[in-house]
Formats: sequence, C-alpha cells, structure tokens
Amino acid sequence: METTVAVVAEHRLGLVNPVTYEAIACALEILRIRPSRLVTITIGEDSEEAGRQIAAKTGSQVLALKVPGLEEFNGDAYRTILAGLLAELEPAWVCIPGTSQGLDFSPGLAVRLGQCCISNVERVVERDGEPAFARSLFNGKIVAELSSLIAKTLLMVQPGAFSAVFTGSHSPGVVETRTIEWKSTHIRSLGFRIAQSADSALAEASVIVSAGRGVGSKENLDLVRRVASLFSKSTIAGSRPLCDLGWLPYQLQVGQTGATVTPDLYLACGISGAQQHLAGMGGSKFIVAVNTDPNAAIFNVADVGVVDDLEGFLSDLLEESNACSHK
Ligand SMILES: Cc1cc2nc3c(=O)[nH]c(=O)nc-3n(C[C@H](O)[C@H](O)[C@H](O)COP(=O)(O)OP(=O)(O)OC[C@H]3O[C@@H](n4cnc5c(N)ncnc54)[C@H](O)[C@@H]3O)c2cc1C
Repeated sequence: METTVAVVAEHRLGLVNPVTYEAIACALEILRIRPSRLVTITIGEDSEEAGRQIAAKTGSQVLALKVPGLEEFNGDAYRTILAGLLAELEPAWVCIPGTSQGLDFSPGLAVRLGQCCISNVERVVERDGEPAFARSLFNGKIVAELSSLIAKTLLMVQPGAFSAVFTGSHSPGVVETRTIEWKSTHIRSLGFRIAQSADSALAEASVIVSAGRGVGSKENLDLVRRVASLFSKSTIAGSRPLCDLGWLPYQLQVGQTGATVTPDLYLACGISGAQQHLAGMGGSKFIVAVNTDPNAAIFNVADVGVVDDLEGFLSDLLEESNACSHK
C-alpha cells in the first residue's frame, strides 16, 4: 500500500495561514526521501475555500472536512475529527504547523492515536534511507536528530524553518469535500478579538536595532534607542523575554509570536538566535549581531558578527558617530 504523508492546514475565515505552506514544504522534503501520496486536510466551515487556495498554489490533493457551525478553531474539534480521519487514512507522517493552534491539539491527538509526536521540527534529514527530523536545543546551540520508533508520527513544524516557495508550474490538486457533524462537548469558542497589531514603525523601518536579554537592564535600552536614532527610518525592537519583562511593548516583539520584519539592516544586540526569534527576522537584508558568546546561534545567520559586550560596543558606536559628525 502506498505511504501517505498528511498536512493539517491552518486557516481562518477562508484565509490560509502561510505556516500551512511551510508544513507542506516539510512534507515535500519527506516525499523526496520516501515517495508517498500527499494529502492536505482543511477543517471547518471555510474548509472548501481554504482547500481550493492550497490546491491551486501547491498542487496538493486536499481533503476538505466541512463542519457546519465550526467557524473558528476549536482544539476539541480538531482532536476528535482528526482522530477519526487519521485512523482511516493511516498516514505515516502528519505535518502540523507548530503554532499555538498546533500546540493545542497535536500532543493530545498523538496520545489518542497512540502515535509519536516530534515537536519543533526544523529540518528533514535522511538516515539509513528513512526520514529523520532535526530540531535545535539550547537556543540553537545544539541540533538534535530524532526518528520515531513507532510507524506513525505527528510532526510539529517549526514556523519559519521551511521555505515555502511554490513556483513550479503544476496543475491544481483535487479538492474532495466531506461534511462532518460535530458538537462541542468540552470547549466552546467565545470568538476572537483583533489584538493590537505590530507597531507600524516596525513594518516601515529600514533599520531595526533589536535588543535581547543580553541588554541586562531596562535602563540600557536607552543606549539601544540612541543607536537607532543615528539612522533615518529606524526603530527599536526586541526579543520576547524583553516584552515579557515589560521592558518593551509587545507591538515591538519580533519573532514567531511577534512581528515578521525584513529591514535593510537588523542589528541584533544580546540576542541568542533562538529559532522562534529567527522566524521573525531571518528575512532581513543585512544582519549584524553583537554577542559576548562566540558560539551564539545568531552568528549562523549574521552577515557581520561582533563578539563583544554590547554596552561597550554601542557606546563606542555612539562616540564614533559623534566624532564623525563634528569633523
Ligand atoms: C512557542 C514559542 C514562541 C516564541 N516566540 C518568540 C518570539 O516571537 N520572539 C522571540 O524573540 N522569542 C520567542 N520565543 C522565545 C525564544 O525561544 C527564546 O527564548 C528567546 O528568543 C530568547 O531571547 P533572547 O535571545 O533575548 O535571550 P537569551 O536566549 O537569554 O539570550 C541572551 C543573549 O545575550 C548574550 N549576552 C549576555 N550578556 C551580553 C552582553 N553584555 N553583551 C552582548 N551579549 C550578551 C548571551 O550570550 C545570549 O546569547 C518563543 C518561544 C516559544 C516556546
């Protein structure tokens, strides 16, 4: 029997979250090692609309599970519906975007199906002719490779880790629709509110000076602000811990659960380079990183790496620029 690789799409009100295409890119990497049938699953009232977009863009076959009344994501619904469907399809691998939505239902689904669940998958590698999965640990300093001992595995695909570029000409995939009745017994969705969006300064800035935990104190952010003000069209930003500490507003957080930015220059100050941060700034045109740790993972993506104490480095930069402006 032909092996199947399934992808669970993420979509809302007919709009497909781009992380879905990253999960499909991960599935295609598996297919490269183990040729298989690819099926993408969409679930909810809007499953057909989302499914049509996915089939057109990727050529993937889509199974659209139309669930009357299921307008919003509900983890209870996903667990129950997918448990039935995956038992029928028997995919060897299921790629699920590792977002808060994926985190909600995947581990419980794996337990229900008695399957393995590998989280934070960043790369597919070939080991003994079979796909294995790489994820980083310790903020990108160590790469772990994992393979499943169970025949069926759920993979939570790390957002930002796979490049979802679908350019080749292909005919659209077939969308098969099934209608499923479902009634919530455990969780009732009370709806969604639009959160304050990312600071528009982040989207418009050509230069972003971004602070991480290495900045040490809220007071030192002043140094970061002064360096940002050296450039026109610039702003400061930060990693998630700084926002969690309340040193910066969440609108200035860059990363998987913050903003995605693509400035001409991204100056990362005291940021370790965890995959969740890289997911938001990896597309920057030029990256300069300042870090005291020469083995920090941020240096893997930096165009210029400065191994130095950021306070000293930023102070020297300000002094140098001051001297230049007086020449
Ligand atoms: C589901 C999920 C979503 C997440 N989303 C995000 C997200 O959107 N954005 C995000 O940023 N993180 C996110 N994270 C957190 C992420 O995993 C990392 O914990 C975080 O990015 C680390 O932030 P940091 O680099 O500032 O801190 P750390 O990892 O603590 O790194 C601090 C760095 O500063 C360096 N340093 C220390 N002192 C100095 C000094 N004096 N001078 C220079 N360098 C110095 C250190 O060597 C170290 O490399 C998420 C995590 C999860 C689980």
